[in-house]
Amino acid sequence: MRALIVSDVHSNLEAFEGVIEDAQKRGGFDEIWSLGDLVGYGPDPGACVDLLRKHKNRSVAGNHDLAAVGRLSLEAFNTYAASAIHWAVAQLKEDHIKYLRDLPIRVETEDFTIVHGSPRDPVWEYVVSVAAATASFLHLGTKRCLVGHSHLPFLCKPQGQSAAFFDFPLDRPFALKNDRIIINPGSVGQPRDGDARASYALYNSKDKSVTHHRVKYDVAVTQKKMKERGLPGYLADRLPHGR
Ligand code: ZN
Repeated sequence: MRALIVSDVHSNLEAFEGVIEDAQKRGGFDEIWSLGDLVGYGPDPGACVDLLRKHKNRSVAGNHDLAAVGRLSLEAFNTYAASAIHWAVAQLKEDHIKYLRDLPIRVETEDFTIVHGSPRDPVWEYVVSVAAATASFLHLGTKRCLVGHSHLPFLCKPQGQSAAFFDFPLDRPFALKNDRIIINPGSVGQPRDGDARASYALYNSKDKSVTHHRVKYDVAVTQKKMKERGLPGYLADRLPHGR
């Protein structure tokens, strides 16, 4: 079984299509595992929901998805994020809303726990510090965990009573072995690690490996749509910087 692991697509259809095409060229996948924040920020919320649903998928909701369907208050979002969510709500059709509303916040499959934030707080907690990672391992019921939310790709392993972060190497299968691990595939639609290319991972159950890939997409097309659709300029301007 091969899974395409995506997170934080954020209504960026060009990036999402680019990732799917790239994964298909690399041997394809049987299903998509989506770690949440399918909508928010970008110009194509409905089309991104449709594209995900075209494929067999295991998906969880992120904070932006929950806010878009009224499962979470917009008060905790900054003004740019909140105004993009307001805009997305007006674009989504009834069946998109129903799909997002029914998403779980935690899924377990193939020895992986899939959450948007962390195993301790699947909606809001960012696994970006050693303290948060250490707590995540304590709350993890499976060997492996997939998280998104920070838009930063990484691998993280327990180390003594603590935890350590590692770079997620590019284009090289990483053997999972029997180890406990937390993996962030980075963000498809709004990377924040200084690399503007869409970030994703492929899981192969046969050799129990994950591989991190980056793919270039036409950022200018996405930016143009965002401006035409009246989304905050700041959100469009940040895309080519990957910040
Ligand atoms: Zn996000």
